[in-house]
Amino acid sequence: MDLSYDCVIIGGGIAGLQAGIMLGRYRHRVLMIDSGRGRSSLCHRYNNIVGFPDGVSGRQLRQDGIKQAQSSGAEIMEGKVIDVHSNFIVETEEGKPFPTRSILFATGIEEKFPPIPGIKECLGLSVYVCPDCDGYEITGKKTAVVGNGEAGAQMAVTLKDWSEEIIYFNHGGAPLSLETQGKLREHRVLVQQAKVIEFEHHRGVLEAIHAEGGHRLEIGKAFLAFGGNRIQSDLAVKLGAEANDKGHLLVHPRTKMTNIEGVWAAGDVVDHTQFVTTAMGDGAQAAVWIHKWLKGAR
Ligand SMILES: Cc1cc2nc3c(=O)[nH]c(=O)nc-3n(C[C@H](O)[C@H](O)[C@H](O)COP(=O)(O)OP(=O)(O)OC[C@H]3O[C@@H](n4cnc5c(N)ncnc54)[C@H](O)[C@@H]3O)c2cc1C
Repeated sequence: MDLSYDCVIIGGGIAGLQAGIMLGRYRHRVLMIDSGRGRSSLCHRYNNIVGFPDGVSGRQLRQDGIKQAQSSGAEIMEGKVIDVHSNFIVETEEGKPFPTRSILFATGIEEKFPPIPGIKECLGLSVYVCPDCDGYEITGKKTAVVGNGEAGAQMAVTLKDWSEEIIYFNHGGAPLSLETQGKLREHRVLVQQAKVIEFEHHRGVLEAIHAEGGHRLEIGKAFLAFGGNRIQSDLAVKLGAEANDKGHLLVHPRTKMTNIEGVWAAGDVVDHTQFVTTAMGDGAQAAVWIHKWLKGAR
């Protein structure tokens, strides 16, 4: 008896769940393995998804997605994949091997910010990371950018599209080029060379930022911009998948297959914009082509 899965999905965030739901509905034998550390478990409110005018949390999407994937027949397992062998055996931390005919990497990226008290509680509610997603939320409101060097400065300038009053805390202290300093002046961004020690909030609604030296700034909105977000797992690259210089995987634009036959990638780990909606689209597209491939229509 063949004990192989038709597909093992590594990563059970938005992209993995979407693919899991669809592959289950195609009636393939699917296993999703997830270590539970996704960006989708950090965001308390996504504001830009069709059908959710009042927003939806990542946790809610994940909980509902797990139920949906399971009811379509996908198996879901908590665990961390530590190796993927060239003969398509996926190995978890517990040393358990899972043979499979195809693999989908939906492992996402790791959000980089320092462990300042209050940040995590505010993410998506009053503290944001992505101007494309949440620039709109600060329209006309005084906003702090807490970041490091050029990455934070770039964010501060970008946010001027939505708000006149931007204050940049260069928390990380990396130097700013003369050109960047000029841009910040030109856009009337106030720069504070100070470390932030606390995000004071009430139930995730930011009330003030405390900086070193006893300085307290009353403010209701903030963005983080530390740069250097990294992919969560380099297992696909180790297997031989092509990636850009930051480790994001390169896939066929239509099928989402990597350069390795039988290996797909979807969501933030791929080299493109990093949105929930993109991750869902990728997961769906990958599932369609994994299905075609499994049926032999390559
Ligand atoms: C604060 C914040 C706000 C955001 N706001 C918005 C927004 O408003 N709108 C929007 O569209 N997007 C937003 N995003 C981006 C959005 O969360 C991501 O685009 C989305 O989560 C990508 O989904 P994904 O499935 O690719 O990755 P993730 O959701 O990160 O899931 C990846 C999963 O893979 C698992 N994994 C990784 N490596 C392994 C391994 N070796 N073994 C097993 N499991 C593994 C992780 O534990 C994780 O659960 C926001 C992100 C953050 C952090």
